[in-house]
Amino acid sequence: MDSIALEKSVTAANYDSLPVVLREAKGVWAKDTEGRRYLDMMSAYSAVSLGHGHPRILKAMAEQAATLAVTSRAYHTEILGPFLERLVKLTGLDMALPMNTGAEAVETAVKAARRWGYQVKKISKDRAEIIVAENNFHGRTTTIVGFSSDESYKEGFGPFAGGFKLVPFGDAQAVEKAINGNTCAVLIEPIQGEAGIVVPPEGYLRELRAICDRHNVLLILDEVQSGLGRTGRWFAHQHEDIRPDGLILGKALGGGVYPVSAFVGTRDVMSVFNPGSHGSTFGGNALAARIGLEALAVIEEERLVERSAEMGLYLIDRLRSMRSNIVKDVRGRGLWVGVEVDPQVVSGRTVCDALLAEGVLSKDTHGTVIRFAPPLTITREEIDWGMERVERVFARAMH
Ligand SMILES: *Cc1c(COP(=O)(O)O)cnc(C)c1O
Repeated sequence: MDSIALEKSVTAANYDSLPVVLREAKGVWAKDTEGRRYLDMMSAYSAVSLGHGHPRILKAMAEQAATLAVTSRAYHTEILGPFLERLVKLTGLDMALPMNTGAEAVETAVKAARRWGYQVKKISKDRAEIIVAENNFHGRTTTIVGFSSDESYKEGFGPFAGGFKLVPFGDAQAVEKAINGNTCAVLIEPIQGEAGIVVPPEGYLRELRAICDRHNVLLILDEVQSGLGRTGRWFAHQHEDIRPDGLILGKALGGGVYPVSAFVGTRDVMSVFNPGSHGSTFGGNALAARIGLEALAVIEEERLVERSAEMGLYLIDRLRSMRSNIVKDVRGRGLWVGVEVDPQVVSGRTVCDALLAEGVLSKDTHGTVIRFAPPLTITREEIDWGMERVERVFARAMH
């Protein structure tokens, strides 16, 4: 049986994967089982922002794995402190709680926000509310999908946890109207990724910051995908010069090799946790901490944030200059660009299949937006290589 048939016969069908079997990858390039080469414009939803198999990450990982890997946080290690110290310095926040996946870090943020609501804001027991945005994506746990506005994420998985209020994304006034005495937090993606790389109006985050301050509500940003250089700044909220009370990170924090996530916050917020209140067997293990620390060092020393800004402008220019009647919109920030295609003319999936045949890995979101989010290490020449193929596909799709 071939790999695709085998995989399909033994895995739940929760993904509709593109028909390619990848065998190896290095940097921005991947190879399939037939030896064909692909430019990775997907980066595993930004988990591979440093590129595949980054030599420094692999070295740190091998060294640490052979020395000390998983101990559980029943004990201390020499490496968790330095990792989180670097993380809090970078974010301008005070403390962090390490987890593994993005969804777990979001759950951690929800717990922190609610406890802060009860202990600090003095909201009555079990009344805390969190305001979230329509079309949000924060992960796949039952609590998280419960406050999604996307039926396909939720259908058949209820009953869901209460205490969440949905408002339109990009509308700060709607947030202020939804706030009441029980509101403990606003939880938002500064740029909505899975919704189709939706950039809110200029000033949105600054307004949210002011509204949250005015009403004693925490502003918590989910930068699992937008953080760590993806948008051309270390964090997307820096485009508006604000500081959140809580910041959720993941994906690229694992250097492309391991799941590493964290909830980072102010001392005020993080102080609500006490022994026994939260945990994770693997969260903050020595291997994860070493990889996370190395990932942050690589992003800084290789100037990947600056590269993302510079190459992102180039990428978006190239995409905007393509003439094609299938393209309705090109938007994004840094090396995070979405091309919205006209579903009347062609489906996003058809475009992605055609890109695959040309040697470009991408994946549509919601059938209409093609994402271009390569590793931040991509060069101008590699972008050119990819854009020649994208242009060919877009031109062909016109007929
Ligand atoms: C991917 C993502 C998550 C969930 O991360 P997992 O590691 O898949 O659990 C949460 N929030 C955002 C914004 C994401 O893009």
